[in-house]
Amino acid sequence: MIASSPAGLFCAAGDFHVDPWGPVERAVITHAHSDHASHGAASYLCAAPGAAVLRRRLPEAHIETLDYGERRAIGDAHVSFHPAGHILGSAQVRVEHRGEVWVVSGDYKRQPDPTCAPFEPVRCHTFITEATFGLPIYTWDPGAAVVEEILAWWRENRDQDRPSVVFCYVLGKAQRILAELRETADAPIHLHGAMAAMTDAYRESGVAMAATERVTESMRGKALARALVLAPLSARGTPWMRRLPGASVGFASGLMRVRGVRRQRAFDRGFVLSDHADWRALLATIEDTGASRVLVTHGWSEALARYLAETRGLETGIIRTRFEGEAGELGDAVDSGEGS
Ligand SMILES: [Zn+2]
Repeated sequence: MIASSPAGLFCAAGDFHVDPWGPVERAVITHAHSDHASHGAASYLCAAPGAAVLRRRLPEAHIETLDYGERRAIGDAHVSFHPAGHILGSAQVRVEHRGEVWVVSGDYKRQPDPTCAPFEPVRCHTFITEATFGLPIYTWDPGAAVVEEILAWWRENRDQDRPSVVFCYVLGKAQRILAELRETADAPIHLHGAMAAMTDAYRESGVAMAATERVTESMRGKALARALVLAPLSARGTPWMRRLPGASVGFASGLMRVRGVRRQRAFDRGFVLSDHADWRALLATIEDTGASRVLVTHGWSEALARYLAETRGLETGIIRTRFEGEAGELGDAVDSGEGS
């Protein structure tokens, strides 16, 4: 019912693509990260809570929305969105055609996140799952506890008049940290300019977050000596960092589970915080769907597919995408939101 095509996943019954990467007529979008929401479609359909964020990414696009759970007939298929728990407005796409149900999960997580609706398992025959962190080494602690670690580290640095810089994704991760800190931060949190537009979109959408202040051109040195600054990883090693002499630098990512990565990249601190499912959550979710067939995409897809076939007896397959960018989190694709 849904198959790979040159522009990505295509549903022939409804004549639409899910998260296409090429120009198509109708795009059904799971969420606004750039490797799921590309330019060039004639029209976009997304879950209503994600509209403001998608609008920031695609200012010229024709965007329609559906509430979570609302059904729409598209061609011969029926389509609905269900919360994926990944970032604000993220959705799984349920497609039904002649009694057969497929679910494209997009990126998802099962941990509580104050910025978005919790993941909702959807029963289906075929489940298309991500595998960004599809290895048993990836296990997460509760997000609120990790953000408490960030807060404690900020206070330590502040006592030494040392700025604290947390590198994190511009869309989703930064706002999740700000939302977790909304009760406990006792000073505004400073944002690199790249963080501002998406944070505004979250505020417009009604997400409560800690107070923020944008790092301006004139701010440097003493003005930021006690600041907690959120910045994209792409700012690291650029002249922008010179305004933060002596800064302690941390990185908030699921990749920080692997100590070697942290050491190799010389972060002072790694905060294990991901907007993707960890290994246990991937397995639990696949079971919750009741799917007999699981197609795996993104990240560690071969490893997860093999495990499911061997231990669960499921029919599995791999869907290749143009973006296998999760491992590229430490590379150039820093604004895609993947691998986070
Ligand atoms: Zn994503």
